[in-house]
Amino acid sequence: MERTTGPTATPALEVRGLGVTYGGISAVSDVSLRVAPGELVGLIGPNGAGKTTTIDAITGFVPHRGTVQVLGADVSSAPPHRRVRAGLARTWQAVELFEDLTVAEHLRVASPGSGVRDLLADLVRPGRASRPGSGDHDAAILERLGLAELADTVVTDLPHGTQKLVGVARALATDPAVLLLDEPAAGLDVDESRAFGGRLRALVDDGRSAVLVDHDVELVMATCDRVVVLDFGAVIAEGTPSGIQSDLRVQEAYLGTAVDDGGAVG
Ligand code: ATP
Repeated sequence: MERTTGPTATPALEVRGLGVTYGGISAVSDVSLRVAPGELVGLIGPNGAGKTTTIDAITGFVPHRGTVQVLGADVSSAPPHRRVRAGLARTWQAVELFEDLTVAEHLRVASPGSGVRDLLADLVRPGRASRPGSGDHDAAILERLGLAELADTVVTDLPHGTQKLVGVARALATDPAVLLLDEPAAGLDVDESRAFGGRLRALVDDGRSAVLVDHDVELVMATCDRVVVLDFGAVIAEGTPSGIQSDLRVQEAYLGTAVDDGGAVG
């Protein structure tokens, strides 16, 4: 991934004034969010705060107000598949895998098409070999997520935590600039969650950007560069993990409950 980093770089994701209304009820009212290249931003908040709706809107799955820019390109009116082409990818709260397919096949079906033109280009420009959609590219993703040895395993034979990683690997198949993860650690035990945090951090340290929605507060605080807190569809706080943990509004709205429940709510 060749992306400019640093304070003057174009944001990987810039969201301004995002709003979503369901049948007259406001789910998200005015969310602005900026994610720099190579930055991991946590998005937390109580149940019903609007976290999933924010991801749905950014990725184009629900109509919204406000603007969404990916690497400087405005995709505010674009359908989901054009937002994918612009550099967005997401995972879903529920593990939605294809029961009969292997781990590697999940990446293959999600990859950009490998038409005749791509095959010919590979022959004359071998450097393209690790482009998204190529076997090398998919193999590198599986290696990064510790799934390489499971490439030929049918996903239903895998434990839940590993299936969630396959969902993340599938989202990476298009080589997104920004990965939006909706509760990837739900259902993982403490060790699986920590291992996942390490792998996510490594992806971001490679230069990719990500937004992490999760109720596993320990995971979010340990892995994210910055945390944004939502309540009733609006941003109530934003800052470093330590700043957010000591913010009284956040403790009242969310962290009090999270800490009482041993670090994982929802
Ligand atoms: P959780 O942590 O429980 O997943 P969340 O922060 O992701 O919650 P959302 O799922 O985005 O919250 O929901 C925000 C609000 O929008 C809630 O009041 C919810 O009931 C409402 N909502 C979400 N999806 C729909 C929908 N399809 N139709 C109507 N209302 C919806």
